[in-house]
Amino acid sequence: MIKVVKFGGSSLASAEQFRKVADIIHSDESRRYVVPSAPGKRFSADTKVTDMLYGCYELAAKGKNFDAEFDAIKERYNSIITELNIDLDLDKEFDTVKACFIGRAGRDYAASRGEYLNGLVLAAYLGYSFIDPAEMIFFRDDGSFDADRTIKAVGDRLVGVERAVIPGFYGSMPNDTIKTFSRGGSDITGSIVAAGTGADLYENWTDVSGFLICDPRIVEDPQPIRTITYKELRELAYMGATVLHEDAIFPVRKAGIPINIKNTNKPGDAGTFIVESTSQKPLYTITGIAGKKGFAVVNIEKDMMNGELGFGRRVLEQFEKNGISFEHMPSGIDTMSIIVHQEQFGEKEQEILAGIHRNCHPDVIDIETDLALIAVVGRGMKSERGTAGRIFSALAHAHVNVKMIDQGSSELNIIIGVSERDFETACKAIYDIFVLQQL
Ligand code: ASP
Repeated sequence: MIKVVKFGGSSLASAEQFRKVADIIHSDESRRYVVPSAPGKRFSADTKVTDMLYGCYELAAKGKNFDAEFDAIKERYNSIITELNIDLDLDKEFDTVKACFIGRAGRDYAASRGEYLNGLVLAAYLGYSFIDPAEMIFFRDDGSFDADRTIKAVGDRLVGVERAVIPGFYGSMPNDTIKTFSRGGSDITGSIVAAGTGADLYENWTDVSGFLICDPRIVEDPQPIRTITYKELRELAYMGATVLHEDAIFPVRKAGIPINIKNTNKPGDAGTFIVESTSQKPLYTITGIAGKKGFAVVNIEKDMMNGELGFGRRVLEQFEKNGISFEHMPSGIDTMSIIVHQEQFGEKEQEILAGIHRNCHPDVIDIETDLALIAVVGRGMKSERGTAGRIFSALAHAHVNVKMIDQGSSELNIIIGVSERDFETACKAIYDIFVLQQL
């Protein structure tokens, strides 16, 4: 059995957190490959080492002095090393990094050193081998990630390596310079290592006990989701619910490896399993609720619209020409509504409206702004009658006016449009009817 374990920045922010991480790893011998992030925040006003590195490099790139900022980074690592009594001296490494900053080795190189140095510390603390991902995680000349080459290289490199620490977040370009993934990218490294080693499980350790049914900033102490499918996760993540980098799904999904989101501070909690499919019934009819503000609706009316061949295409063409993608498109016989991201749309609004007027000759176009969309997602909805009814009666009781409804053909989600000022009330009402009233 092989488990790949990735620990996020808050899990490795201090010596105390390092101890928890080591206990977790030592408590299960199948936890053989460890992917660390850079040290994150120790308290809410703290700064992540990655951000300290970006700041420092910015000064270096402008030719300014960055000694004080660099010393603060050294101190983050040295305090962990000293407190844990690790037999390791990073001075030479720090000197190299500093020299490379002065030599303008690049922003990606700078940021990657957060994971690199943390990997050295963790490997020494655990007594594991250290493997630099620059040797086996590859990007192409155009900056895209070379998944096939990488997964093969990871597999080859780790054959016969019993236990190793592999820093997250970066790999190398064909010219051997360092390139990072986007922010939060250590999740992707973990997924790649899991796929490359053919692991049985990818454990992603963070500071929450899994994916929550609803945003904890809206609902107090929401229940965690025990099991979620990739499809459900995508629906919720698209609406802004995130614990995992979106690109981290692909490598493990392709290799059929489940992900378990776990809490370093509460290792006994089951966390969330992310799987391709499952026979496990969700505890509630819905799996999760997520939503976003900032949408606008373009309402178009024209008498006899339904008989006019190509009308919809001509309308959508105006959005396409201006580079605006639409989110939803509910329609009636003589009306259609296009829901778009308000900010993006705002920049092209007049061009699009003029295009619709010229090409489609509508009777009326009107725009409504400040709309929020809420996705109620759940594989359990398909087999249960009355889900939509329950949502709408809950919203009616909470005095929320529903402006739009859209149900995907897969019956995996129901999307509801409400006014932004009703957003929180609506999420709470839906959580209440499906979760609280069933506890
Ligand atoms: N340290 C990087 C960041 O802060 C990558 C990661 O933690 O996944 O974005």
